[in-house]
Amino acid sequence: MADLKIDLKTVEDLTNAFGPSGFEEEVVSAIKKHSEGLFLRNDAMHNVYAYLSEEMLKASREKKRSGRPVFMLDAHSDEVGFMVQNIEENGLLDIICLGGIHNTNIPAHSVIVRTESGKKIRGITTSKPIHFLTAAQRADDSLEIESIRIDVGASSRQEVMEDYGIAVGDPVMPDVRFEYDEEHGICYGKAFDNRLGCVSILETMKRLVGEKLCVDVVGAFASQEEVGTRGAKVTAQEVLPDLAIVFEGSPADDFYFRAGIAQCSLKAGTQIRHMDSSYVSSPAFMKYAHEIGKKYGIKYQDAVRRGGGTDAGVISLTGKAVPTLVLGIPSRYVHTHYNFCAAEDIEATVSMAAEVIKNLDEERINALLHKGEI
Ligand SMILES: [Zn+2]
Repeated sequence: MADLKIDLKTVEDLTNAFGPSGFEEEVVSAIKKHSEGLFLRNDAMHNVYAYLSEEMLKASREKKRSGRPVFMLDAHSDEVGFMVQNIEENGLLDIICLGGIHNTNIPAHSVIVRTESGKKIRGITTSKPIHFLTAAQRADDSLEIESIRIDVGASSRQEVMEDYGIAVGDPVMPDVRFEYDEEHGICYGKAFDNRLGCVSILETMKRLVGEKLCVDVVGAFASQEEVGTRGAKVTAQEVLPDLAIVFEGSPADDFYFRAGIAQCSLKAGTQIRHMDSSYVSSPAFMKYAHEIGKKYGIKYQDAVRRGGGTDAGVISLTGKAVPTLVLGIPSRYVHTHYNFCAAEDIEATVSMAAEVIKNLDEERINALLHKGEI
């Protein structure tokens, strides 16, 4: 197994944090807890900006730029989840999805509802046990969100509101705790899309502290990606990058396609995305990433996605053309409750990002930016 330099406690705390889109406060705290040596600020929608020095933090507050190219490291900090839409007379909670979750993945799971006062209430997403299904219902495989509710063990609306303190608008996340299987190098948990990206920003930046770099690096943890890349619309305008890396917990496809066709397999290294529905990558940046992978023996896999999208769709078009590299950590079953990933793929992703930045010189930057070419 590849040598692990990443801190698994950071992975644990970030993936356990409560953070459906718009409710990323706990993620912000976990980022802060694991940001030793970095300098942070945040904004009113839970976006977080990280800098390698206090001077850079101060300069960003004053909107001063050093004149060197700005290299942005992005990862969205939210996770898919739910919001309480209504409380029924019998005490069941109607819900809507925050982000894309297929209805068949919702019933019969344990979830956490967070109340306004911060209390966490365990609930169960309802399902009709086979005993109560009619023959027609058993044959019917359609399922609507309106027919799935959360049961917190109460029996009336009054009880839910007064005793539990739950209200319309409260957020909900899956009830899953991180575990690491050291023997096999496998992480189990929730929200790998995209807390693994957040971990990657922290770990990459920590490897850059004290290095002589040709760029100013800014880490940007963007909220609300799962409901329409909203946080990145703000962070990209704030940072105004010249170059960027977007980290993602990418959906692993190794059980859906055979070897040779799969492009996001566990233990096959960081995923370099050539395109998805949101962007087409810069060929010069792809070539550079391949060179770095070969030079340092970092495992990578190339991917051309038929669908999907990331913050790259926003960042690469902010203010000017911004060459953007998307690096994915293959994660099984993203946008469902339980995920698996290989720790060595996080390591490969961080190594790739760190070496891409450390190896930049003026000539390479000019080539990536097509300076002086026509
Ligand atoms: Zn994502």
